[in-house]
Amino acid sequence: MQNFGLDIWSNKNFLIENGEIKLNFKCMPSLLEITNSIRANKVKGPLLLRFPHLIEKQINTLYSYFTKAIKENKYKGAFHAVFPLKVNQFPSVVEAIVERGQKYKYGLEAGSKAELILAMSKTPEGANITVNGFKDKEMLTLAFLAAQSGHNITVTIEGLNELETIIAVAEESNLKVPNIGIRVRLHSSGSGIWAKSGGMDAKFGLTSTEIIEAIKLLKSANLIDKFTMIHFHIGSQMADIAPLKKALREAGNIYAELKKLGAVSLSSINIGGGLAVEYDQHQASCSRNYSIDEFSSSVVFLLGEIMDAKDVAHPDIFTESGRFIVASHTVLITPVLELFSQDYQEELLHFKETNPPLITELIELNRLLNNANCIEYLHDALDHMESLFTLFDLGYIDLQDRSNAEILVHNIIKKALYLKSANPTNELEKLQSELQERYLINASIFQSLPDYWGLGQHFPVMPIHHLNTPPLRAASLWDITCDSDGEIRFNPEKPLYLHDVNIDEEDYFLAFFNVGAYQETLGMNHNLFTHPNEYTITITDTEYHIGTKIESKTILDVLDTLGYDKKEILKKLKEDLKNSSFSTEKEKSAKLAQLETFLQQNGYLRTTN
Ligand SMILES: *Cc1c(COP(=O)(O)O)cnc(C)c1O
Repeated sequence: MQNFGLDIWSNKNFLIENGEIKLNFKCMPSLLEITNSIRANKVKGPLLLRFPHLIEKQINTLYSYFTKAIKENKYKGAFHAVFPLKVNQFPSVVEAIVERGQKYKYGLEAGSKAELILAMSKTPEGANITVNGFKDKEMLTLAFLAAQSGHNITVTIEGLNELETIIAVAEESNLKVPNIGIRVRLHSSGSGIWAKSGGMDAKFGLTSTEIIEAIKLLKSANLIDKFTMIHFHIGSQMADIAPLKKALREAGNIYAELKKLGAVSLSSINIGGGLAVEYDQHQASCSRNYSIDEFSSSVVFLLGEIMDAKDVAHPDIFTESGRFIVASHTVLITPVLELFSQDYQEELLHFKETNPPLITELIELNRLLNNANCIEYLHDALDHMESLFTLFDLGYIDLQDRSNAEILVHNIIKKALYLKSANPTNELEKLQSELQERYLINASIFQSLPDYWGLGQHFPVMPIHHLNTPPLRAASLWDITCDSDGEIRFNPEKPLYLHDVNIDEEDYFLAFFNVGAYQETLGMNHNLFTHPNEYTITITDTEYHIGTKIESKTILDVLDTLGYDKKEILKKLKEDLKNSSFSTEKEKSAKLAQLETFLQQNGYLRTTN
């Protein structure tokens, strides 16, 4: 049975049982069960489900592999991790990381003033804060205030001017000076679509010459004892481990050299993020060629080796993994609203007492089609279809015959595509991309899967039920924005097959997985669709609990965010309606109330699903 690549991308977080997809944790609720219980309260549209136990799992995994590597390599430094807030700043995510990472003193990384404020308010005592990105005097002063308030904060400078500003703030104030890190510009660069952070032309970091200059500045300002960390980040979703190893060698040697240059307090290397997540549904290890085990061993081994060779004490290791920590914890559930070519359903066949001979043959081809004969039968069917169209044009068959022919041939193609889905011929590939059924999903790709729109990043997607039945329809997914980019197509090498369902009679839900990193904060309000209703689900041995709910913004609130006066909008609409003619006062007040209700709901579709 087709499992939509669950064994490839799900990291054993989910499993299929009794035709439904379930969480592989404690009481194992099914996604359908959770979805239905939320929707029982009249909630419509897409749902974002968060599972904090999956964040905890990733945190534990990261720490356990680094702890293991440190032990195996007799490494002397410690391991620390911070979570980069830019990956997901939503409260339920940050709170889950802080709470569930408490035993490790898990910290936070900030890349802007607002993120720094968030880090200062959420980082527990003793945990680390790291600050990256471009900073002005105000932001650097904020870092001094954080240090003064007792935070364990390290500010990574991206250029010499930032260091000069730090020195100025230190001289002007009596505030406690934060620890200082230097981002090094590496010669090596990462790989993959996100790799723009490393290399000679990188946006960030100091060159060797600038680093030497920085040490001089620090010494002359008497701040060399505040310089504790060097940092690099070679880009997100690192596909290949080789560039990381090169970067580690380079950064490791820079570290050792700096110790020799008199960086007395230098004690940590921060290797940034980049640890990849498997998004592929078809082929294992497509997104990355290494495991977390190999990753942690390589980092620890290489750093140890370099330091031993140069007779320098082992540094503490910091990581800033974001995607790896949070991608898996969020599932986006989208109801399917419509299939665009339902008219090809077999129920709609209406045969006559005597059918034209070619139709009779099509009926037989459809009935007898199997794996062995399907290519031959498909060719016969396509041939018959051509002949039947000609017969129709010449007036020999009627519209009902033509409709029967279309339905039968579609079915034959569909079955052939399915039977040969493992190794399709060129002809089938062409047919499949022409005949993808369009499933309309109640969601916005721009809001909920912006990396698909911007970078062509596919996310694992599958139905959460009907999994006892083979899916026969090659699908493409359309969202409800009126933008032609709001479509997810699947190329013939990596098709998505979905079920033939009658949406008027039953629900059909698709779930997108591994959407917990970057998607929500990059998501945009195209067509004014907003962040979906969000729920945090905790699971115990006996039950699951639907916790914190963050409601999608109402239509009026969305307009308000844009700067419109929502009261004025409501007033105008109500007045226009009031001034129109109604047969009774009762009807008028009912319609006014209805209008108000509409405006107090979110903008996702509600009528059908
Ligand atoms: C974005 C970013 C990260 C997070 O990268 P992931 O690939 O999500 O792990 C870490 N550090 C820095 C400096 C970043 O800019």
